[in-house]
Amino acid sequence: MSPRPDRRPAPDLEFWARQAGHLHWETEWSEVLDRSDAPFVRWFTGGRLNAAYNCVDRHVEAGHGNQVAFHWEGEPGDTRAITYADLRREVCRTANALLSLGLRAGDRVAIQLPMIPEAVFAMLACARLGLPHSVVFGGFSPAALRSRIEDAGARLLITSDGQYRRGRAEPMKALTDEATAHTPGVEHVLVVRRTGTAVPWTEGRDLWWHELVDRQSMEHTPEAFDAEHPLFILYTSGTTGRPKGILHTTGGYLTQAAYTHRTVFSLDPGSDVYWCTADIGWITGHTYIVYGPLANRTTSVMYEGTPSTPHEGRHFEIIERYGVSVYYTAPTLIRTFMKWGEDIPARYDLSSIRVLGSVGEPINPEAWRWYRTHLGAGRAPVVDTWWQTETGAVMIAPLPGGPPAKPGSAQTPLPGISAKVVDDRGREVGKGESGYLVLDQPWPSMLRGVWGDDDRYRETYWSRFAEQGYYFAGDGARYDDDGDIWLLGRVDDVMNVSGHRISTAEVESALVSHPAVAEAAVVGASDPTTGQAVVAFVILRGAAAGTPADEVVSALREHVAREIGPIAKPRRILVVPELPKTRSGKIMRRLLRDVAENRETGDVSTLADASVMELINAGLAGAS
Ligand code: ATP
Ligand code: MG
Repeated sequence: MSPRPDRRPAPDLEFWARQAGHLHWETEWSEVLDRSDAPFVRWFTGGRLNAAYNCVDRHVEAGHGNQVAFHWEGEPGDTRAITYADLRREVCRTANALLSLGLRAGDRVAIQLPMIPEAVFAMLACARLGLPHSVVFGGFSPAALRSRIEDAGARLLITSDGQYRRGRAEPMKALTDEATAHTPGVEHVLVVRRTGTAVPWTEGRDLWWHELVDRQSMEHTPEAFDAEHPLFILYTSGTTGRPKGILHTTGGYLTQAAYTHRTVFSLDPGSDVYWCTADIGWITGHTYIVYGPLANRTTSVMYEGTPSTPHEGRHFEIIERYGVSVYYTAPTLIRTFMKWGEDIPARYDLSSIRVLGSVGEPINPEAWRWYRTHLGAGRAPVVDTWWQTETGAVMIAPLPGGPPAKPGSAQTPLPGISAKVVDDRGREVGKGESGYLVLDQPWPSMLRGVWGDDDRYRETYWSRFAEQGYYFAGDGARYDDDGDIWLLGRVDDVMNVSGHRISTAEVESALVSHPAVAEAAVVGASDPTTGQAVVAFVILRGAAAGTPADEVVSALREHVAREIGPIAKPRRILVVPELPKTRSGKIMRRLLRDVAENRETGDVSTLADASVMELINAGLAGAS
């Protein structure tokens, strides 16, 4: 085979070298990007750095030891202020504890913890020692934890006795024991005492954090690792199918995490108080609670519990208490706030808010406007950030202070990033047209593979547009008349009605803009005449619940026809009490497709609440 000329566009390497220059490198890189083995790439080859040193020590050395890194707030109301000097001590002690257990660079560590400071100490201690961490969301079942421990081959599990959930202390160690009973590769389980719950104990294997970590030295000299040394493995949320173990490495990831956090939120480490409400078990928690903010010496808020404990104003109370200036959350929570009512945020002083962020799903324009009005005093820019576990950091987002924002549009790739909307054959579509979102140039924080499965990496992301060498994101998108990007939902979810491609996101936004609707999910169900028919599942707002269902349904069908066009008019609208969501709050449309097509519901293991499907099915059986 003769080599083909490389026609792929080159990313702006000087730009990325400048961004990498914000970090401390023990050894400078010799080459910014090496893609000789595409789709496997290497960034900052030859460079060496320590991620934890960059997030912690260098700020202390520069005289910022007294700056608060985290204002932490527990669900029961206990608080801790952790300065950068405190963080350095805790991370060093934790690193020394892990060394005492015989862990060495390259060994994997699984972490299943609630949102407590030890979760951050544990992640940074791993990073400091070159131990790739695999953080598993605290709400995942023993079976989910077990498969992630096995897949990554973890030698250590770090967990807690229990966790607070909606005002109750729930067991955690008892559950992780069900997983570790089947994972002999786990030599030790390190247990943080959080709730005081009684725990089963395996002598010799299990160790208390406060006994092992607290007696360690507070000094530890970090070692620099190769820029491509694995930093972590993180399993995707599992919205579409079996979770993938996404691998991220050190230099490129940290460069882009810091760059995007600084830029997207126009962050000022001297004055901002920043709060990202994600869980540490998701990529948003990794990049925008831990690595990005700490690399930028941010003062953050970290909150352990649920937004409605002990009352529905909890988040607003926290914003007021700490003077939060940047608030970053997900559309699912914004829609929940809308359901609870605008009088709740109105009771608090939210005037400190300067920038609002959104991530995880397309944000409905209605939710966008509500967010800006009721949290942002009608002024604060809302940055809708599109990215994935695989991209490691934000890729598409409007910048605060940039061109006027458009509610519901992520708008433009960030400086340094290139994204395109293309058709089936990889040709860029025109303004006003829709197609597939691709990333046509490599970026520093891109995934370096699927853990232990190179074929799945090639197949999932690189086979669709292999000819062009584009990364296939799996999301549909559209250019508007200005060339701005609108995300339309997963490619698998986009509907095809009589040959028209209709976006689930667009129909859902139309439904949510009707005053009777609190939340909506739309799927395409196979239909003998039109190919697919639009089927909508809606949750009604309190006030509309009394109206006869027939009346609401016909009003909503007309509303969608008016907002988008008769072609998008739902064939069926089903009023439901709940929607099936993943544990990160995303709607799982494939399960609703099963309902719409009268099938057994498929795999529900990544669902936040498995009983929701029973509730929906029972309600529908009763109605017909
Ligand atoms: P899995 O890949 O296992 O199905 P997942 O895709 O839900 O799970 P994540 O990596 O957490 O896991 O989510 C990334 C996806 O979330 C994107 O591909 C996109 O579909 C959606 N998404 C995230 N942010 C936005 C946004 N601002 N606008 C629209 N969609 C978004
Ligand atoms: Mg995905």
